Order: sequence, then C-alpha cells, then structure tokens
Amino acid sequence: MPETHAVDLVGRRMPGRVLRGAGRRGLRAWNRSQPCCAAPRLDIGPDGRMRCGGCGMWCSASHSRDRLVLARSMGPIGVDVQVRVDRLRAMRVLAEVAQLGPAGAGVEQWALAEATLKAAGRAGSVPGRGELTLPAAPTSRALPDEPFRLRIEAVGAESVGMPGVVGRAEQFTWGSGFVIALVQI
Ligand SMILES: [Zn+2]
Repeated sequence: MPETHAVDLVGRRMPGRVLRGAGRRGLRAWNRSQPCCAAPRLDIGPDGRMRCGGCGMWCSASHSRDRLVLARSMGPIGVDVQVRVDRLRAMRVLAEVAQLGPAGAGVEQWALAEATLKAAGRAGSVPGRGELTLPAAPTSRALPDEPFRLRIEAVGAESVGMPGVVGRAEQFTWGSGFVIALVQI
C-alpha cells in the first residue's frame, strides 16, 4: 500500500463556469496565501503531475461546472470533481475497463478513475480492459457545501490501481450535485 501522507483539500464555487487553467492558478494562489515552504513554485512534470519545486509537495486540481477543488500532500495524489450527470456510453466503457460487473459504473467510479489516472501521472490515457481497479460500491462521506477546507490525515481504505500502481481512495459527496474522489499512491 502507498505511504500515508496527510492531504489538504479545499473546494469552492467560482463566479461562473470554471475556465481551463483555473486549477493551476488556484494552486499558485493557495501557495501564496498559505505557503507550503519558503520558496513555493509550481512545477508541472512531463506526465502532467504538479509538484512544488521548493519542497516537493504534490498538488492536484480539478473543476466541474462552477466548482474548483485543490489538493496538496507530501505524496503523489490525484483529485477529481464530477457533476452528477448521466453519461451512459462512457459509463459502459468504464464498467468494461474496470470490470465492474452487472452493477456497472456511476459518476462515483468515473471520479475515482480520473483521480487514479492523475495520481499515476497518466491523465488523459485510456486504460485497457481489466487495467483499472476500482471499488464496485464506493462509500462516500458528505462535505460541507462550500467553501470547504479539510485536512485528511489518512486517505480512506478503498483500493484503486492500475498495472504497477497501487492506491487508496476516498470519496465525498459535495452538496447534492457533485462527487469528489481523492487518490493517494
Ligand atoms: Zn513548497
């Protein structure tokens, strides 16, 4: 299992739809208001993963509609927020990839899949059949609506993975319309 590191997670509603690049801007603003170290600098690796160039802290960001979620930790992490909408075709594909069986995939597994790919540095790639391990029935806890600021001492015990990647995951409901997945590897 991955080493356990505390994760700081924040989320807020933005004025209007969140634009591309808002995650990186949000992470930089967070590092200015609450610096992770004496010389914070957001570096983006060739695999898309973000780290502080000063202290090595790992960062991840996600947005959906008008919601923005940011996370940072001393170990590799991925965070994903998804609005609850039906994407039946995409869910069928995901259920095949993760071999979820008759229960199929929902937006919960979709967020977990995205967060796992981000944590592994493979965001944007499409795993083959059987290459993604996700919980068939993930459990969630409710977050305060917004804005929220949360320190998670140990990411929950749901298992997620890809070939060569073992992770643990935790899932949240955010109001009635959004789910958030957090993955640590
Ligand atoms: Zn730092």
